[in-house]
Amino acid sequence: MRNAIVVGGASGIGWASAQALATDGYRVVIADINLEGARNRAAALGDPHRGEFVDVSDEDSVAALFEQTGAVDAVVSCAGFSTIGLIVDLAVEQFRSVIDVCLTGAFIVAKYAGRHLNDNGSLVSISSLNGRQPAIGMAAYCSAKAGLSMLTQVAALELAPRGIRVNAVAPGFVHTPLTEGAAMVPGVVEEYVENTPLGRAGTPEDIAEAVLFLTKASWLTGEVLDLNGGAHMKRYPDIIGHVMKMASP
Ligand code: NAP
Repeated sequence: MRNAIVVGGASGIGWASAQALATDGYRVVIADINLEGARNRAAALGDPHRGEFVDVSDEDSVAALFEQTGAVDAVVSCAGFSTIGLIVDLAVEQFRSVIDVCLTGAFIVAKYAGRHLNDNGSLVSISSLNGRQPAIGMAAYCSAKAGLSMLTQVAALELAPRGIRVNAVAPGFVHTPLTEGAAMVPGVVEEYVENTPLGRAGTPEDIAEAVLFLTKASWLTGEVLDLNGGAHMKRYPDIIGHVMKMASP
């Protein structure tokens, strides 16, 4: 049986990806900072799937996860979050906390994935539309995801001699617990949809479908796949503008 680890697999895109991999026949380790959530998700999938703790910002924690799992065939790197605030107001600590998880965390996962993936295995990271489309108030997240897109290409070059493929999905606005707050701000989803040729926001399943494709696509590496209903051809919503409008109507 093939083994997979989904980092950040207790929620949203990670959880949908874990389900897709399990359905495809993988034995899945759902790893998350939310251990209870990871265990509950694994229990929902049933035997032989497992839930484990990991904090991607802590190298020892990631190393322990990979060492106890052993050789793997697919790794999906989903842990991430965002913060909002104009650069002139943003505390350095807030900026660092997003970089720590979304970029340094993704690097640490790539490092141990590179060591533990079987030859011809696959690493898929979740980047973002914000890796190429700037958004006011999202300096940390946009910078981290742009870095992750480049990290994907460097890792793809370094791991190619072993046949390991390294790709990323760059989703647009997807309804998950992460975006619940933004989705409740009047105008945010509406503006996203107005600027999305396919006329809707995404679902975790839309992303999981592409994650599964990337685990299989045997001649594809170094790709950052825009997956956003076509929104990359238009513009990103002014989230902070809508937040300010809501605060002082
Ligand atoms: P989500 O539902 O919040 O899931 C993210 C999971 O990662 C949560 O279970 C979270 O745990 C966990 N996590 C957070 N920090 C972690 C850490 N340090 N170590 C290990 N796990 C950690 O979010 P999502 O929307 O599915 O996002 C998944 C990925 O897709 C993220 O990288 C995000 O940036 C990216 N993405 C999302 C969207 C979107 O619109 N939703 C768009 C583009 C890209 P807690 O909940 O306990 O913190």
